[in-house]
Amino acid sequence: MVQSYDADNAPDSASRREPPADGCSDATLALQWSRVRARLQEEIGEVEYRNWLRQAALHGLDGDEITVMMPTRFLRDWVNKEYGGLLTSFWQSENPAVRRVDIRTRPTGATNAVPLLDEPTVSVGRPAPAARRENDDRSETVAPLDPRFTFDTFVVGKPNEFAYACARRVADGPAPGFNPLFLYGGVGLGKTHLMHAIAWELSQRADEVTVAYMSAEKFMHRFVSALRRQSTIEFKNELRSVDVLMVDDLQFLIGKDGTQEEFFHTFNALVDSGKQIIVSADKSPSDLSGIEDRLRTRLGCGMVADVHATTYELRLAILEAKAARSGVPVPGRVMEFLAQKITANVRELEGALNRLIAHAHLFDRPVTLEAANEVLHDLLRAYDRKITIEDIQKQVSEHYHIRISEMSSVRRARNIARPRQIAMYLAKQLTSRSLPEIGRKFGNRDHTTVMHAVAKVTELMAADPDFAEDVELLRRILAV
Ligand code: ADP
Ligand code: MG
Repeated sequence: MVQSYDADNAPDSASRREPPADGCSDATLALQWSRVRARLQEEIGEVEYRNWLRQAALHGLDGDEITVMMPTRFLRDWVNKEYGGLLTSFWQSENPAVRRVDIRTRPTGATNAVPLLDEPTVSVGRPAPAARRENDDRSETVAPLDPRFTFDTFVVGKPNEFAYACARRVADGPAPGFNPLFLYGGVGLGKTHLMHAIAWELSQRADEVTVAYMSAEKFMHRFVSALRRQSTIEFKNELRSVDVLMVDDLQFLIGKDGTQEEFFHTFNALVDSGKQIIVSADKSPSDLSGIEDRLRTRLGCGMVADVHATTYELRLAILEAKAARSGVPVPGRVMEFLAQKITANVRELEGALNRLIAHAHLFDRPVTLEAANEVLHDLLRAYDRKITIEDIQKQVSEHYHIRISEMSSVRRARNIARPRQIAMYLAKQLTSRSLPEIGRKFGNRDHTTVMHAVAKVTELMAADPDFAEDVELLRRILAV
């Protein structure tokens, strides 16, 4: 009988044969397989092993032939070509009965199939965080946590090690001197990821900790609707009853005086009663313009940690971690290429990798440099070609049928001001110009005006899919 180690795949009866004369037991074979794998890992290195061979499963010994199963045809062919020789020689030295190694694909329907893209790294059985508990009357206030955003999946490097250490410290329990924890940095650099990671960690603790996580926008909407329903007292009580309050992207409270006031009071009430506050923003408290000084002062009086722009090394490490989790082998050269090219932020880098992986799955083709160039064509073009602010102004003016001179004019009518804000937003997204530099190109405006435009457009995009599509269209036109 074929000795199967893959419980889900009973061997088909046609291939059943008697065990070899040396009567190798299941346990012996399993032991030999684990030694073969250890030797492979040693030979080709941890990363390569993880990429290509992690999903190899021993099927059994049939006569003089060992069968190893791979989840996809592509992996089967790749492993056969690249590692078939090594596999055979390691097996032969472990077990003299073995002459050949047959690498096959698992029949469809096998449970150990290729993991989904972006598979959640949190197991399903994990208890829901306090903030999401069902029948909890807070559930309306808080946003759900992303199960992928844990400390385990956060790759630490020079640019983010300080922020990471602070987040860890706060997640470990009462952290004097870390209240509030203020995380700041550019878009897509991991602030939200760290906040969710803290929330997950706290919700795992034995003692009940209530965590409320929400975006500043959500805070604002909740507050405004409470005002409308004349239920601000309940809103206040609700917020003030949590142990940990997290408000993400605080820059969106800029200019919202009433909401800021409310946030300020909530903030004070919580801090005074020893509760933890965690806030993120795109700027440090001292650079956040448009907020009241007393709030700024309070925001800066705990721990302020910035998440810096990524380095090549960090980008590469993030790609390696994400590729390994996807289960699709991504050659080192491809990762180096992406880490070199896609420098804007982690979100974009992740998006590029996901596209490559999806493509590999879909066509059952290996990820190669050629495939990367082809699949990421549009994205890479945008990086190759230096888009200028003038290009953006021209394109946006044409799109909205206004004169290009309006980009620098003082007119504030919405049909002019909105396209101008979109152009500023795109300039921030598509060029490496700083906010003051962008401001200068738009009629010598202040950098806070640009910042406000970026915040406004981001906010509108989140709220209005049509608007988002329009901006996205412009972005794509400019990026080709
Ligand atoms: P921000 O809130 O700063 O705009 P996010 O936390 O939303 O950025 O991060 C954007 C994406 O990049 C997320 O999918 C996140 O998981 C990922 N990411 C950012 N930094 C890291 C990191 N150091 N390790 C792993 N993933 C990261
Ligand atoms: Mg965020």
